[in-house]
Amino acid sequence: MKGNCLCGNVTVEIEDINTFEACHCGMCRRWGSGPLMAVHSNSKVAITGQKSMTVYQSSEWAERAFCNHCGTNLYYHKLGSETYALSLGLFQDHPDFNFESQIFIDKKPDYYEFANVTKKLTQQQSD
Ligand SMILES: [Zn+2]
Ligand SMILES: [Zn+2]
Repeated sequence: MKGNCLCGNVTVEIEDINTFEACHCGMCRRWGSGPLMAVHSNSKVAITGQKSMTVYQSSEWAERAFCNHCGTNLYYHKLGSETYALSLGLFQDHPDFNFESQIFIDKKPDYYEFANVTKKLTQQQSD
């Protein structure tokens, strides 16, 4: 399935995935102002428009990429692996996703709450 940023400079293509999860960790909430809703891929991500992309190492173990033209957050990537969490919003042509789980639920502040029925995993269970 294909996705793209707001301005269209960066496109990503991954295998079809029908589920997504939300991460409530403090880094994701600071990065995107809310929980990161993301599709998890464990295989290669084909990217076009890489010169419009900035990759930022956000921790010792991971990096995050965004479009440096429009600012769209693209993905979280665990270094040294093919584990990517790609922003759900990139894939708006995909008709049906299932909201499967919420991770780092113990880091979620009390001032918001999803009503969807999902699996809820603590930080310890999420790693
Ligand atoms: Zn863009
Ligand atoms: Zn997170």
